[in-house]
Amino acid sequence: MNDRNGRNGTASSVTFTFNGTLDTAVEVVPAPRAASPRAAEALPAAARGPLLAVIAPDAPERDIHMLVDGLRLRGIEASVFDVGPGVVMLPDAPLAEAEAVLRAHPGIAHVGSPDSPYRLARREVVPEGSVVAIGGVAFGRGAFGVIAGPCAVESRAQILAAARAVVEAGAGVLRGGAFKPRTSPYAFQGLGLPGIDLLVEARAATGLPFVTEVTDASQVEALYPHVDAFQVGARNMQNYELLKVIGDGDKPVLLKRGPSATLEEWLLAAEYVLAGGNPRVILCERGIRTFNRGTRYTLDLATMALARRETHLPVIVDPSHATGDPDLVLPMARAALAAGADGVIVEVHPAPAEALSDGAQALVPAQLHAMVAELEALAPVLGRALSRPHRA
Ligand code: PEP
Ligand code: MN
Repeated sequence: MNDRNGRNGTASSVTFTFNGTLDTAVEVVPAPRAASPRAAEALPAAARGPLLAVIAPDAPERDIHMLVDGLRLRGIEASVFDVGPGVVMLPDAPLAEAEAVLRAHPGIAHVGSPDSPYRLARREVVPEGSVVAIGGVAFGRGAFGVIAGPCAVESRAQILAAARAVVEAGAGVLRGGAFKPRTSPYAFQGLGLPGIDLLVEARAATGLPFVTEVTDASQVEALYPHVDAFQVGARNMQNYELLKVIGDGDKPVLLKRGPSATLEEWLLAAEYVLAGGNPRVILCERGIRTFNRGTRYTLDLATMALARRETHLPVIVDPSHATGDPDLVLPMARAALAAGADGVIVEVHPAPAEALSDGAQALVPAQLHAMVAELEALAPVLGRALSRPHRA
């Protein structure tokens, strides 16, 4: 697991925000001396609540262990998470006492107290933004990643042709679903595990890492050794058992926003993965349900930008599912880059008319090529650089 001190974080509804720095004066409430039960009743209860402390980048791990042990000796529960430079979370602490201990410790850079339900996902934990890589392709802090591939893996010939188109276009990561969550039970449900074998083959042929959807917690173990990243689809954003299992590992996860999820619900879904000990979360805005019938969903770029303000996690955009229209994919990908997104994920198919799922929204390889070329040209103007696969 990734945390330094045993994992026991939860995503309860208490909140945190940063409200001070090391030199903020803290009034220390002295511990009450032993008194009769009657006298104790008269004392005001010390204010309690959750606290978060961001670890200083150069703090020795041993010192942090000692800090946590020291807090526990005082009866204050604390856990360490490997998010950003490292975070000590106190779910329910006597605030004045715990703040005084944390602020006095040289290994602690910032101490914060709650005002939002998500904690580890908050931007203040990593103000400069987190970078999450899929097979060496970076997303975040100026790195703009392009993920492309078919909606579903359909056959060996199809995924190999698609993967070749993706690598030739200059995109960094291959996508393709082997387990497909389909609206209709009669629609193509994906090839299942044989589809994963084909993705592994496509990776070997092209050098592209791949992301693929996991639709149930029971699949994680079998997929784990093979995939470069898990996709949690829009329909599964609130599948908390799945999020917990993924949080228990260290594979990157592409967490799509549910079509009716609020920003807070989306970030709390990410918090499940972070609280489980896995800091490698990339968020993906893929359109929400509105009254609009012109496009498949409504691409909520404003909430993408708001998400980037609220969280340090990279946020990417899926213009394929958001619009359902290949003609709108390029303009929306452009808009995503300009609005600050850390990447895009798009669908491409060697023969969209023959696709077994989402063919109507798929780009053809030439359109993908043109899109990547344009994003690559635009990125430096917008302070970003396209991420490339990391080849040995
Ligand atoms: C997909 O990526 O093919 C997919 C099913 O996306 P979403 O979960 O966003 O609908
Ligand atoms: Mn699709």
